[in-house]
Amino acid sequence: MAKKTISAVNVKGKRVLMRVDFNVPQDETGAITDDARIRKALPTIQHILKNGGRLILMSHLGRPKGEDREADKAWTLAPAAIRLGELLGQPVLMAPDCVGAEVENMVANMQDGQCCLLENVRFHAAEQIKDKKAKDDPALKESKQSFAQQLAALADIYVNDAFGTCHRDNASMLTVPQMMAGKPRVVGFLVEKELKYLGEALNMPKRPFVAILGGKKVSDKIGVIEALLGKCDTVLIGGAMQYTFMLASGKKVGNSLVEADKVEEAKQLMKLGGDRLKLPIDVVAAKDLKEGTATQVLEGDIPDDLQGLDIGPKTVAEYKKIIDAAQTVAWNGPMGVFEIKPFDVGTMAIAQSLAEATGRGAITVIGGGDSASAVGQAGLEDKMTHVSTGGGASLEFMEGKPFKAVEVLDEA
Ligand code: AMP
Repeated sequence: MAKKTISAVNVKGKRVLMRVDFNVPQDETGAITDDARIRKALPTIQHILKNGGRLILMSHLGRPKGEDREADKAWTLAPAAIRLGELLGQPVLMAPDCVGAEVENMVANMQDGQCCLLENVRFHAAEQIKDKKAKDDPALKESKQSFAQQLAALADIYVNDAFGTCHRDNASMLTVPQMMAGKPRVVGFLVEKELKYLGEALNMPKRPFVAILGGKKVSDKIGVIEALLGKCDTVLIGGAMQYTFMLASGKKVGNSLVEADKVEEAKQLMKLGGDRLKLPIDVVAAKDLKEGTATQVLEGDIPDDLQGLDIGPKTVAEYKKIIDAAQTVAWNGPMGVFEIKPFDVGTMAIAQSLAEATGRGAITVIGGGDSASAVGQAGLEDKMTHVSTGGGASLEFMEGKPFKAVEVLDEA
């Protein structure tokens, strides 16, 4: 079932509490180095303001502990309020906190079409109390609920436009909409788009459907590989996790990154996948992980003094052939250490193949995180059907895990 979106709700004169993901990267001075996350929320923000809503934005930023405000203060959202104001061409009020009398006062005095940003919700430890923990601990439960209640009381309408945190049961994501039962609780345009593209790609894919999985750890992706083997025609493996599979097939991996305790699971996945699970044919290996270092292309065993750092040219060619024949491609995790040249070659070649696939009408969906950065590095973001804003969230979505923070929202 599709979720009700903000366009189906009359916001005029209403206080709209919207959870966004303004968890932007910053340099040592606090300056925002990439404002993409703020820009991606703009369509929903502009829609609400244009239609006369009184917009109250809330977000997390970084990993403050939520115990000592002085220690946490580097994680203030104030720079995001300034940047948003510049993008909107109107001032954005910055709240001193996200709950409390001062915030309530500020919200009470807002005019139609005005926008404020609440201070970092993670300045309160209650934001991140897990429901599982709170279930057996009345004090924790009370703390999370009373925090969420204060946020919920600020508004008439709840909007979730923070896909990157949709897999979490944080107070601002789940407890607040639970407490706003009876009031409109909807998704913003960004979450709508994420659910549409990820949902369509995974649940009714045009075939052949190919998934490409890479990245560091096989342990993070066992669930998703298993789930995708149940849905895809082919699953292509790359990144450091391929070496755990190499170990599982009795090959030597030298100094490559492996998870020796996951070899059994890798064997199970290979059995489950059969021909549909493809492992690299060759690897690019080096002595050290250094820019411009000497490399060797190897098939089979990797000698003791070398480590595999990228997929090799034969693998690139083989994977390209499979992608060329696909109608739907989902990609999560780089093929090698793409941050350091020349180990970016495999990842960039895969990004290029996906861009070509989009060009001939295939659906290409990039799970967020490092694969999204890699596509950005290749300058191919616009050449993909959809680049997700959520790394962990898109992975859990691909795994088929339900998102309570989305389930609680109104149906269309
Ligand atoms: P993940 O967060 O699991 O998606 O992993 C992403 C990280 O995996 C990136 O920072 C890559 O540099 C790293 N990575 C990919 N391939 C390798 C490899 N062969 N050896 C070490 N790290 C790798």
